[in-house]
Amino acid sequence: MPNYRAWFQCINEACARTFALDDLVYECPSCGSLLDVRHDLEALRARPAAEWIKLFDDRYLRTSWPYGSGVWGKKEWVCPTVADENIVSLYEGGTNLFWAERLGRIVGVPDLWVKQCGNSHTGSFKDLGMTVLVSMVRQIMRGPRGRRLLGVACASTGDTSASLAAYCAAAGIPAIVFLPRGKVSAAQLAQPLANGALTLALDADFDGCMRVVQEITESGEIYLANSKNSLRIEGQKTIAVEMVQQFDWQVPDWVIVPGGNLGNVSAIARGFEMLRDLGLASRSPRLACAQAANADPLYRSFQTGFREFTPQTARRTLASAIQIGNPVSVQKAIQALTAHGGVVEEATEEELAEAAALADRTGLFCCPHTGVALAVFFKMVERKQIAPTDRVIIISTAHGLKFTEFKRGYHAGALEGVTPRRRNEPVELPADVGLVRDAIRRRAEG
Ligand SMILES: *Cc1c(COP(=O)(O)O)cnc(C)c1O
Ligand SMILES: [Zn+2]
Repeated sequence: MPNYRAWFQCINEACARTFALDDLVYECPSCGSLLDVRHDLEALRARPAAEWIKLFDDRYLRTSWPYGSGVWGKKEWVCPTVADENIVSLYEGGTNLFWAERLGRIVGVPDLWVKQCGNSHTGSFKDLGMTVLVSMVRQIMRGPRGRRLLGVACASTGDTSASLAAYCAAAGIPAIVFLPRGKVSAAQLAQPLANGALTLALDADFDGCMRVVQEITESGEIYLANSKNSLRIEGQKTIAVEMVQQFDWQVPDWVIVPGGNLGNVSAIARGFEMLRDLGLASRSPRLACAQAANADPLYRSFQTGFREFTPQTARRTLASAIQIGNPVSVQKAIQALTAHGGVVEEATEEELAEAAALADRTGLFCCPHTGVALAVFFKMVERKQIAPTDRVIIISTAHGLKFTEFKRGYHAGALEGVTPRRRNEPVELPADVGLVRDAIRRRAEG
């Protein structure tokens, strides 16, 4: 394998300071900007596009460890500097690209697809980035500098902590997770507890947890696992590469992704850029970032043409994983959306819940964040921003089973601010064949 290189680089072009990927650095110490992972594109370009395609297709979902992983099958593009023996992989990626045929026909856009990123080890796309980050932590701990770390920490709206806890447990590394108390689902709380993470439930919202974890990780004894750490973005960008691969290296017209801290929309844009830079695609899709109306700082900034950005205190939303008012990756997201003809749209509680319920009726089982993306999709179709012939991919970010309170609440009519139009409650009956027959007939007659 040729000697591919990658490094951290300050995103402020006027500064552009660089650091090694095993440095404990999360923002530029000179100017305070975020860091990006940059790759030696010249070296990568030396391999023709057709050969990258063959390499990626040969590895895809095969058993040759770790290259059967959707992330590590693209290792040269993701994190070439981590040694194979340090990789902590739970076989992430390779998720179904679901043809939402019935839903697409209902809406009048039959070429509709849902990328099921939640069909993953811990049930969310966070696994794609976490495998890269925890692998690098293992390399740092085992490396020649032999750094001793007390553990790896993150603030989380639920899914990041579940993922960090699982990957750390698999590697035998201590995990410390900060959750906003009472604001994550029961499943999301159970996950880090089961994996043995020190689970700190703070009387704060996500943004408050984020402030604490940033301070805790400053001294260098504890490694920061939030998506501010751009190693995660490198893993997540394989979503874009994998979707194009699943379409036999064809690029879709639109990709719609729910956004909270705004790392994922930046990552997906980066994946499409890399496909273009290395000649595997001749164009990029347009991106739409979908926000909950109760946590919509990027949507509001978009209304000003991204000239202004004002952090907000996010209000409570069913889409709890994107209840973020001060997104860490906002500058990257604005850059990414500007470069990709991007738009930002929002969905109310009612809209996200109905969108998820409608999609569920066509065979999906959507988490509320996927509901936000679907509701935004419906709006864009209605206003003809998306054409009936467009190929559209909705990024489903988590598994619906992590959000059973949301599902049960909807069908029980118990969600605040939502009057459900597609309720389906259990019919409780004595064990009597006649009564059962009546119930079946009533349903058949609508
Ligand atoms: C983390 C997460 C998001 C938001 O991703 P960002 O990178 O923070 O914008 C959306 N949906 C789910 C289910 C998540 O876990
Ligand atoms: Zn800088």
